[in-house]
Amino acid sequence: MAAGSNDQGIESSERSADDPAARIEALRAEIRYHNDRYYRQDDPEIPDVEYDMLVRELQRLEAEHPELVTEDSPTRTVGDAPSTAFAPVTHTVPMMSLDNAFDREELQGWADRVARGLDLDSAAAPVGYTCELKIDGVACSLRYENGRLVQAATRGNGRVGEDITANVAGIEIIPNVLAAKPPSVVEVRGEIYMPIATFEALNEAQTEAGLPRYANPRNTAAGSLRQKDPSITADRGLAFWAYQLGAVEGGPNLAAHSEALDWLDELGVPVNPERRKAATIDDVAVFADHWLEHRHDLDYEIDGAVVKVDRLTRQRALGSTAKAPRWAIAYKFPPEERTTKLKAIEVSIGRTGKATPFAVLEPVFVGGSTVQMATLHNDDQVRLKDVRPGDTVIVRKAGDVIPEVLGPVLSERPKGLRRWKFPTRCPTCNTELVRPEDEAHTFCVNPACPAQRHARISHFASRGGTDIEGLGESRVALFLEHGFIEDPGDIYDLPWDDIAALDGFGQTSIDNLASAIEASKDRPLANLLVGLGIRHLGPTGAELLAGHFGHIDAIMAASADEMAAVDGVGPTIAGSVAAYFATDEARALVEKFRAAGVNLTGPEASSEPQTLEGMAIVVTGSLEGFSRNGVADSIKARGGKSPGSVSKKTTALVVGNEPGASKLSKAEELGVPILDEEAFVTLLETGELPSSS
Ligand code: NAD
Repeated sequence: MAAGSNDQGIESSERSADDPAARIEALRAEIRYHNDRYYRQDDPEIPDVEYDMLVRELQRLEAEHPELVTEDSPTRTVGDAPSTAFAPVTHTVPMMSLDNAFDREELQGWADRVARGLDLDSAAAPVGYTCELKIDGVACSLRYENGRLVQAATRGNGRVGEDITANVAGIEIIPNVLAAKPPSVVEVRGEIYMPIATFEALNEAQTEAGLPRYANPRNTAAGSLRQKDPSITADRGLAFWAYQLGAVEGGPNLAAHSEALDWLDELGVPVNPERRKAATIDDVAVFADHWLEHRHDLDYEIDGAVVKVDRLTRQRALGSTAKAPRWAIAYKFPPEERTTKLKAIEVSIGRTGKATPFAVLEPVFVGGSTVQMATLHNDDQVRLKDVRPGDTVIVRKAGDVIPEVLGPVLSERPKGLRRWKFPTRCPTCNTELVRPEDEAHTFCVNPACPAQRHARISHFASRGGTDIEGLGESRVALFLEHGFIEDPGDIYDLPWDDIAALDGFGQTSIDNLASAIEASKDRPLANLLVGLGIRHLGPTGAELLAGHFGHIDAIMAASADEMAAVDGVGPTIAGSVAAYFATDEARALVEKFRAAGVNLTGPEASSEPQTLEGMAIVVTGSLEGFSRNGVADSIKARGGKSPGSVSKKTTALVVGNEPGASKLSKAEELGVPILDEEAFVTLLETGELPSSS
């Protein structure tokens, strides 16, 4: 799909405009209402794509009826008036908005206008652009005087913003003092954002505490930044990427925007490394297409690419409209939030018996696929969000994350909709559902519940578990229905003759399934443990337990305290594993595995010299001489750890082809040594870091 392509059946909110003046007024009022919700309350009511449609319709009507254009129309103004909760800051250089291109054609249209504006034949003399990522956060201006941060302000209405200096001072990544030779004045413009991992952890905590979940990282960043109590902002783990200069006094002579970004980098301000110079608009499209595909490899959200004419003389020649520079454009990616109808709310029962409410939706194309179901998490969240069957709801689907219903669009709620009530009985086995005290979730406590059995066995056979190809959810359901299996142990004792009598099971598929089951017996103990679906036990905890105890019998014999003593295994995991193995069912299951010859032993002690003992080596990108798993294995075999992210504790970052930018910049920021493949091989052999790193 081409970047920015919005050809996904998004209907314009356009209505027949018999009376254009009235429609224009109505649109302006509606847009102003949404501006207030978005910019001042940090709590939008509709997805961005629908807001954009309203603005587009207004722009079109104003173009058709120039006599109806007013200076205060939202098509000509930036953001919204600053809130009175903060002191006003007048920007010396205005903070503008950006015009949008929603598809390749609109991008080309912008490039043509730029070339005409510069009097260039762009084919003969390429314009020259800088491509950047469009960070989905909140615009902020940082003013440094003689190298010291003296003021931070929001964009506000572009001319006057809000003074948020105290809040910004608590954001660790923003330097209070600039490096290198700072000029007497420099204003750094950039985006404050919330990293995805921080956002997810915050939401996890909200769910467990029975508090409302936050909608998305952008609104959460905006809300976190504009707190009256700066200590709340400081706790929220916000981050920043600089993308533009404001006022500068005493700086170097810069000829291009790309030089300005390099200079900001030298000054020690975080500048996003994912920026490229592009000669032509085709090169720009390659950059944008790449990031459309890889947007979820980043640990922050982007909603498009920003393209800027690189040469500053050319920027000045092009100038700006009342709202946005003519020398830049935001090339927007397809939306990850859309509205649709909520047809019903149902409850699914997971492998631990957890009853999760989910939304049955009118199918909607969002975040790259058609979504028909979305999670509602638990009873509290449905109540807090107050979504009701029949509502129009906002659905969010970002990357691999399970689609989620964010909330209802209240202005579209039909009259008389009833609140939804959590069922009191399991929809599958009719056992009374239980919500333990101090628990955010409700459970079906009947271990024989067919829904739980189905979820447990499917999970056991899934990729993260014992990875049995050909034993997916539908076959598990079929085998359960025929009474061939009741628990994962029965997979190793299937009645093949009965299976052969079923429709759709020829000799080949039986042979394939049998050999996949046979192969699953040799999976590492950690996979078997993950496959058991023990609450709180993930792959990392399972590996630690398997590595430490070496055999499932030793794990079963260990007390919770003994397990909690293993480095990296907390009391919650340890308690849950001990409770699991204390049950007769779990022990009987292990006996079935033993009888079938399933591997129950942990990793063999490594024969490699323990050169990396106590070291944490992070790897990013692909290495020529190692597979992805192979790199981690060779680190672990030598006594090292191979965590997924860079922190202060990281010994070194190994960088291969196409490395992740965030790991690289984090390592640079923390002064973590950066190694290429050759230095990594030396490290494996000797345990020594090259002296220059
Ligand atoms: P914008 O967000 O489309 O673009 C301008 C902003 O992009 C800049 O101010 C800056 O903050 C940001 N940006 C990120 N990376 C950048 C980079 N590398 N270089 C330059 N700028 C970069 O425009 P806007 O005027 O801030 O807001 C309009 C948009 O906000 C709408 O298109 C919509 O998506 C959203 N909005 C939504 C609602 C709603 O109700 N859902 C209401 C108002 C606005």
